[in-house]
Amino acid sequence: MAKINENYLKLQGSYLFAEIGRRVAKFKNENPEANIIKLGIGDVTRPLVPAVIDNLHKAVDEMGHADTFRGYGPEQGYEFLIEKVIEHDFKPRGVELEVDEVFISDGSKCDVGNIQEIFGTDNVVAITDPVYPVYLDSNVMAGRTGSFREGKFENIVYLPCNAENDFVPELPKEKVDMIYLCLPNNPTGTTLSKEDLKKWVDYAKENKAIILFDAAYEAFIQETDIPHSIFEIEGAKDVAIEFRSFSKTAGFTGTRCAYTVVPKTVMAYTENGEAHSLNKLWNRRQTTKFNGVPYIIQKGAEAVYSPEGQQQIKETIKYYMTNAKIIKEGLESIGLQVFGGVNAPYIWLKTPNNMDSWTFFDKLLTEAHIVGTPGTGFGPSGAGYFRLTAFGSRENTEKAINRIKTKLSL
Ligand code: PLP
Repeated sequence: MAKINENYLKLQGSYLFAEIGRRVAKFKNENPEANIIKLGIGDVTRPLVPAVIDNLHKAVDEMGHADTFRGYGPEQGYEFLIEKVIEHDFKPRGVELEVDEVFISDGSKCDVGNIQEIFGTDNVVAITDPVYPVYLDSNVMAGRTGSFREGKFENIVYLPCNAENDFVPELPKEKVDMIYLCLPNNPTGTTLSKEDLKKWVDYAKENKAIILFDAAYEAFIQETDIPHSIFEIEGAKDVAIEFRSFSKTAGFTGTRCAYTVVPKTVMAYTENGEAHSLNKLWNRRQTTKFNGVPYIIQKGAEAVYSPEGQQQIKETIKYYMTNAKIIKEGLESIGLQVFGGVNAPYIWLKTPNNMDSWTFFDKLLTEAHIVGTPGTGFGPSGAGYFRLTAFGSRENTEKAINRIKTKLSL
């Protein structure tokens, strides 16, 4: 008898966006004339920039000639891309990395989901709450949690982030082994100062814990002094792994390219306390289970670092951050309490009159024909909050804010 991994049965309901899709489809069915604007799912709308397109074309042509054709590539990624990553994303921030500390992949979702495989199943996991759901679900699948009771999984340490604590998570009172930090945060759009982040690095050092640092939105940071990489913090190279993605930075959500930094100095331990390099374990995991990102795609990603590419993606980021400003200021003008939107393309709002998140979802959909994301979809501390994204077109963003101002009864 083939048995299933029963941990999958603990996973909660349908995936957040499936439920949103169901409600939107039902509304559309009942109101076929409604012009619905989607500011819910975090997908981008601007096309790939010309520098990337040029390189993609050239790489396609190379694949058609025997002397430039490429077959299986290195699972860890081509050095031409890794060297650019190190040179542009880390060196200017004082972070030195070696080529074999960067692993190119087809997505941060895959990497943050897969990374837990190299850790023991009895590790205690801490996650900030609310947060991108993949950290939690991948640990549920692996059996690191108990059952789901009263809105939470047993054996998970939730670190609430809300308006009351200024979205700065408190260090856990109990000892934890794996800590997921997502900064700038999805969904709250908030960040941590270097000082606050240093407290986490110190905690990890003291407790021999590992920080899994998701920096998928670092390119959207506008304020100076906010850390872009955890490795800007002294000591982090001993206790942290960092995830970055070209998805939001350069419009690669459909093209797929990301990378993960695993310094050779970051260690985890056997039952009897023997230190092992996580870099070696991740390398083994990737070479066994991953075939690498296509050459063509890596050439496209390489162009992000050319002078034209840098200029062009800066324009795109500016476009989205202007949308964020329009949303933030529009909502504030009607008296809503709004967070994020300054260093991240997400706007996190407190629902009016303490309405629950799904009720606000339905209200926004029926009154203004706008789709957002209920805060509860990101964790129990998301209750009473709601996420809008700045990834829509300018036209739709302006239209949506106009409708919220004129159609939403508060
Ligand atoms: N990490 C965070 C915090 C995200 O919000 C997302 C996507 O929405 C991802 C990772 C996924 O990135 P990728 O497209 O590289 O898989």
